[in-house]
Amino acid sequence: MQIQRRELLKGAVASLTSFIAPRLSFAESSDPLPKRTLGRTGLQAAVLGYGAMQVSDPAIIRHGLDQGINYIDTADCYLGGRNEKVVGKAVKGVRERLVIATKVHIAKESRMRKSVSKSLASLGVKKVDLMQLHGLSSKEQVVRKDIQQTMRQMKQEGKFDFSAVTTHSNQIEVLEAVAEDGFYDAVLVAVNFRSPANLYKAIKQASDAGVGIIAMKTQNGGFEDKAWPELTPHQAALRYVLDQPGIHLAVPGMLSRKMVNENLGAIARKPDLSDILHLENYKTDLLGKACSFCSGCIDQCRFGIGGMDVARIQMYLEGYRDSELAVSKGREVAAKVRLCNDCEGCSVNCSQGIDIKRSAQRILRFLS
Ligand code: SF4
Ligand code: SF4
Repeated sequence: MQIQRRELLKGAVASLTSFIAPRLSFAESSDPLPKRTLGRTGLQAAVLGYGAMQVSDPAIIRHGLDQGINYIDTADCYLGGRNEKVVGKAVKGVRERLVIATKVHIAKESRMRKSVSKSLASLGVKKVDLMQLHGLSSKEQVVRKDIQQTMRQMKQEGKFDFSAVTTHSNQIEVLEAVAEDGFYDAVLVAVNFRSPANLYKAIKQASDAGVGIIAMKTQNGGFEDKAWPELTPHQAALRYVLDQPGIHLAVPGMLSRKMVNENLGAIARKPDLSDILHLENYKTDLLGKACSFCSGCIDQCRFGIGGMDVARIQMYLEGYRDSELAVSKGREVAAKVRLCNDCEGCSVNCSQGIDIKRSAQRILRFLS
């Protein structure tokens, strides 16, 4: 026990430089919910945005908006297509002071157009601020000229103000491609206190190139089964990400007023050493459960797919405890889950101790 605590403190102190140093500047702000400029979009977004993905009650989102949150992230496919309607109800009457971001999948032009029109109708708005290509995982996708042309035309038609992308896997390649190519104005990236240093480096470089950086999965999926004495691990995790160089805002999912208030509390609270200890404990708790989106498994996988999709469905099931989302996303990536299930033996040594093959077996059992 003694040794465990000493090891914990050693890890905590190692994290100190990267955590405390950047966040002091954040703590100096007198604004309870400071805004930052989202890269070259010039949009002013509060550092805490609203990840609306799982919310089915507009009143909960409205509670967040009433507290000063002005950025909302949704998508055409969330809640089986219902989430944009929920967001539409929440923003009624206050849309003008908000930044709304939704998503479209890469597809044939006619299909993308249909999806965007449907999103605008569901949200009840004439245009959104950001239209994000959903789930990119390669440079090849970022630089596709036919897709850029479709996005450019829809933007010119006034359907949205800025083109952006989202990424869950191979994120460094996507960030570098966006920064270099210059077409997309922002990236929604999965990043948290367990993410590798080279991801933070890519984020900073993209941000320096003018790309707006929005962080998701900041609390690493909501896996939490313990009571914590002071600052909650979710609060510490959120503060950690928000204080890293290059990140403009975070959009954690918030399913209740309590969660909104908890995250707001993380902004208002002046951090101290206990935050780091919480995160170190939280890291240990998450081993074997939650993917850190390090992308390390792609190169190790004999089929080049890695385990992120499997780990993501596991996160929806066991972290978010959202079986509807797990089913809908699970169907999208069913071929990959089956491949892992049928694989002779996983060649991946996951940095977070996730048994990818076993997770795939569990997910397939659940989906069937
Ligand atoms: S190696 Fe593990 S933690 Fe890293 S992306 Fe793959 S599944 Fe996630
Ligand atoms: S189980 Fe097989 S297919 Fe799945 S990540 Fe491991 S090596 Fe790749």
